[in-house]
Amino acid sequence: MRQTITVLGASGSIGQSTLDVVRRHPNRYQVFALSAARSIERMLEDIREFQPRYAVMADAGAAVQLSELLGDSSATEVLAGCDSLAMVASHHDVDMVMAAIVGAAGLLPTIAAAEAGKRVLLANKESLVMAGPLFMEAVRRGGATLLPIDSEHNAIFQSLPAHYNGELRKNGIRKILLTASGGPFRGKTLSELANVTPEQAVAHPNWSMGRKISVDSATLMNKGLELIEACFLFNCQPSDIQVVVHPQSVIHSMVQYCEGSVIAQLGQPDMRTPIAYGMAWPERIEAGVASLDLFEISRLEFCPPDHETFPCLALAGQAFAAGGSMPTVLNAANEIAVDAFLQEQIAFNQIPTLIRDVMGMHVVTDIESIDHVIEADRWARDCASQWISRSVA
Ligand code: NAD
Ligand code: MG
Repeated sequence: MRQTITVLGASGSIGQSTLDVVRRHPNRYQVFALSAARSIERMLEDIREFQPRYAVMADAGAAVQLSELLGDSSATEVLAGCDSLAMVASHHDVDMVMAAIVGAAGLLPTIAAAEAGKRVLLANKESLVMAGPLFMEAVRRGGATLLPIDSEHNAIFQSLPAHYNGELRKNGIRKILLTASGGPFRGKTLSELANVTPEQAVAHPNWSMGRKISVDSATLMNKGLELIEACFLFNCQPSDIQVVVHPQSVIHSMVQYCEGSVIAQLGQPDMRTPIAYGMAWPERIEAGVASLDLFEISRLEFCPPDHETFPCLALAGQAFAAGGSMPTVLNAANEIAVDAFLQEQIAFNQIPTLIRDVMGMHVVTDIESIDHVIEADRWARDCASQWISRSVA
């Protein structure tokens, strides 16, 4: 029997890589549902190719247009909105869910998949950052299998003992070594970054990704979000994790053991590797990724992160330490800041300033329900938007 997959964020960078892996294994996987915000043309093509039962557009107008273009004879039912996303993520007939919506919009459908006990392929790190304890609890309660798709966390997962139970020390683990490429601005000073443009920021040296995560990579907030992501996924503290800048992006992360061994996962900077790993785990399948040529790479370099030029990494550590609603606030303020930078409303170096100010104004509250998460997220978005209005005025 073929396994069924719902791809949330199908039109994006991770979504398209996921469909490429599916395409290579027609006897193994079948698309149950595809979703996108509003990319009608892309969805139309993918629906024709993969013939899903459902297509969900976040935007209601886009759903109407897509439905008209597909015509009455289409076997795919077009739906719209957040509830429909949760429905296709938790449907009885779905085996696995690729969570690849960008940002906080991914939270509710991803949690729905976890509660329904699906194999959750987690690319949408923001949902774990903003609601970590609740998310992990939903995974436990639902009996879901959570597999990290973020390349670093996938590498850590592969380097941990096969039945890692969340206890670092008892498993003989001394440290997790989280690698970072350093992004397009590695080696620059704060003043050199004063006038960088969105186009310069999204031009990542090694990876081709969506615009939001590309800016996060340039500010190093991506590594900050990943630090928090790793703490929740592997049940550890920021002090158990060392961020290692490794410009070649060949080693995707490592685990250091107490007797001195370091286990690493290496590969091309191609997300189809962690995607295929997550889809087939514990088996391995072809992903269309070329073998690594170590002679061509010839050298691997490592250095510590530059906290002065890239304050976002430390801000994330502080948010995790503060706990409660603070990681939610960090994530929301970052989303607003990145969006404003991409729209050229604020400068690159104002991204960390904005986030720091919003965090400074926040009174931490306990997070006991998703409603609390949504409330903290909304508070931080409002606060960040006001900050931008003041700075533009
Ligand atoms: P992208 O911008 O290329 O794609 C985002 C997808 O989400 C699109 O399909 C878009 O239509 C959909 N979307 C956007 N807003 C939405 C909304 N409000 N409601 C519903 N759907 C919406 O992003 P990406 O690079 O594919 O990244 C997706 C996620 O994966 C992010 O959380 C990112 O951090 C994570 N991730 C990406 C990479 C990568 O290499 N691209 C690597 C690791 C982790
Ligand atoms: Mg990553």
